[in-house]
Amino acid sequence: MESSNGDTIWDVLIIGGGPAGLAAALYSARALRSTLVLEREMPGGQIATTSEVEDYPGIAMTTGPELSLLMMQHAQKFGAEVSIGDEVVKVDFTKRPKEIYTSDGKTFRANAVIIATGAAPRTLGVPGEDALRGQGVSYCAVCDGPFFRDRPVAVVGGGDAAFDEGLYLTKYASKVIIIHRRDEFRAQKLLIDRARTNPKIEFLTSTVVEKVNGRGSVQSVTVRDLKSNEVYDLPLGGLFVYIGNIPNTGMFGDGIEVDENGYIRVDETMATGCPGVYVAGDVRKNPLKQVVTAAADGSIAALTADKYLDNLEAVMGPVHAERGAEEAVHWETAY
Ligand SMILES: Cc1cc2nc3c(=O)[nH]c(=O)nc-3n(C[C@H](O)[C@H](O)[C@H](O)COP(=O)(O)OP(=O)(O)OC[C@H]3O[C@@H](n4cnc5c(N)ncnc54)[C@H](O)[C@@H]3O)c2cc1C
Repeated sequence: MESSNGDTIWDVLIIGGGPAGLAAALYSARALRSTLVLEREMPGGQIATTSEVEDYPGIAMTTGPELSLLMMQHAQKFGAEVSIGDEVVKVDFTKRPKEIYTSDGKTFRANAVIIATGAAPRTLGVPGEDALRGQGVSYCAVCDGPFFRDRPVAVVGGGDAAFDEGLYLTKYASKVIIIHRRDEFRAQKLLIDRARTNPKIEFLTSTVVEKVNGRGSVQSVTVRDLKSNEVYDLPLGGLFVYIGNIPNTGMFGDGIEVDENGYIRVDETMATGCPGVYVAGDVRKNPLKQVVTAAADGSIAALTADKYLDNLEAVMGPVHAERGAEEAVHWETAY
């Protein structure tokens, strides 16, 4: 494979340029570590796809693309490099330095790696869902719930997330309809009981959403009752989809331990079981998936990586980005 950046060995290479990766880049570059972010699409990750963000501390209202750009520029100001269009398809964390391979055949090398590849919400895949995403179709009640004050909304799903978020939405919405394809819910009994006793929550079981209707905003959804086969429109202001998330971990193979849902397991310092490999943001199992938590993870991961490099330097002497392959061989034998 082609080797990128000549023989450059980065102190810290970050996979993913969303809020977690960009915050990690800021902290890493500020700690004077040579830092490279590889981002396959656009800076900002999921947040770049939303039009209104009003819950990032210190910024009362902004757009997702603007916040993303600010985060990238902030990291760059301290010397981090952000490479857009580089998709990581494979890694070898057993090598020293570690090797990271991209879809167009490039190889990058780094002494520490931060995985910040995020996750993607599972979508319904029905007509209108994509077009009205961010205009009434949402995958995040905490992010978008306040925009639906006194309007009827529906939540699709039957697990803990659907019930948690449905209950959360009752703070704002006039009515919350939980739509589920089966008769039985998978959510914990406690959450189901809470929802059943909440006067704002209604249930539509054995029902699927077939279409989201509206232009510029959601007006209604077309649903099908799976028992009677009846198809009808349900007038709504918003549709919240909670049928699971898919963490982006496919490219790490067996090298990284994931839980039953594919999220990477880390300790409170964001360290994985693999020395020199750290994780931040939505790709790890965490209780809240938001920009502020992803950024916090990124800062912790960067400082843990910095300490790891300090320890390596204490044994090997200073580690510089310019060091070449020969040096790597020394490292290999030392660890
Ligand atoms: C529509 C929507 C609205 C939201 N609104 C809000 C809100 O208002 N407030 C809030 O706090 N949170 C909001 N969130 C949640 C928030 O966006 C996420 O919690 C946050 O973006 C997670 O950051 P992250 O960096 O961990 O992951 P992500 O944002 O998912 O970023 C991961 C990045 O890694 C890149 N990547 C993945 N795989 C590879 C690879 N193999 N090679 C290279 N790059 C790769 C992706 O392209 C992506 O850019 C919203 C989410 C969505 C979907």
